[in-house]
Amino acid sequence: MDATDAESVNEETIRTVAREIGAADSTVALTGAGVSTASGIPPFRGSGGVWEEHDPRDFHITRFERDPAGFWIDRLALHGTMYGDREIEPNAAHEALAILESIGELDALVTQNTDGLHEDAGSWDVIELHGNGGRVICRACGERIDATTARERVREGETPPRCGCGGVYKPDVVLFGEDLPENALARSRILAERADVLLTAGSSLTVEPAASLPRRAADSGATLAIVNLDPTPVSDRATYDWRADLTDVLPRVADAVLNENRFRDERADDRSRR
Ligand SMILES: [Zn+2]
Repeated sequence: MDATDAESVNEETIRTVAREIGAADSTVALTGAGVSTASGIPPFRGSGGVWEEHDPRDFHITRFERDPAGFWIDRLALHGTMYGDREIEPNAAHEALAILESIGELDALVTQNTDGLHEDAGSWDVIELHGNGGRVICRACGERIDATTARERVREGETPPRCGCGGVYKPDVVLFGEDLPENALARSRILAERADVLLTAGSSLTVEPAASLPRRAADSGATLAIVNLDPTPVSDRATYDWRADLTDVLPRVADAVLNENRFRDERADDRSRR
């Protein structure tokens, strides 16, 4: 399959998946870096990735604990590399998933991304496996504030930025060396096991727990649809393994589900008029 050819996913296949989503009791989505890079956010790993310019060891939890002031200065630089002054906005893939949820065809969305773009697009039930970089959390009392405010204070020389209680603020993301949030992890496992359809987009499915969620779903009999430019270690379990542009495929899936629903409603109307 040609990875660059969006036409490689034909309409008939899209309609088949749409019918499966329409018939499913539970559809769940799992998203990774590819959904963010489509909005212009550079990836962390790989060629052109953020770790070519920054040292990941500077963002380890032990570094934060040893030297929170230095950590925050590096964190500011990292933010500059990733976002600059650009306004980052959700793309067509984020919007398609938000539409599926709004019409009751997507139960929840599990994401490895920390940029908050799914929420910006209107997704409501988002399970953030790695936290949300748009917030910071006080290590002492747990209060959360906007990360923009914390970065502004670092820029003005407050290193590290502190909460009113005296505790140090930490980005509300899972740093290297930190455990994933237990609730998010437990819930995403249950969702994967109960899903009739698991739609994964933009994840290489190599990092845990994202790697094992699709297997869990497939083991429980779910239809697995994978949209990713590269093959994944779970691709052999996928019913649909699409090497395609997710900003093309996901909106087509959402449109097809909308059409399926319209068709179903019309038939129901016809029956009730008889
Ligand atoms: Zn506090």
